[in-house]
Amino acid sequence: MSFEKRCPVCQKPSDEKFMPFCSSRCAKVDLGRWFSESYVVETEDELEQEEPVE
Ligand SMILES: [Zn+2]
Repeated sequence: MSFEKRCPVCQKPSDEKFMPFCSSRCAKVDLGRWFSESYVVETEDELEQEEPVE
């Protein structure tokens, strides 16, 4: 068994309390990425307006 899991955010050794992250801060950073990604997808709906703007 290897205990060399690394924090996916900062690559530091992860803390078992915050697995797979090294800290609650990195866990939040990763959550924020998820939210920002879905947010980006949602904003694509704005492309519905195909009226040429010149
Ligand atoms: Zn980290």
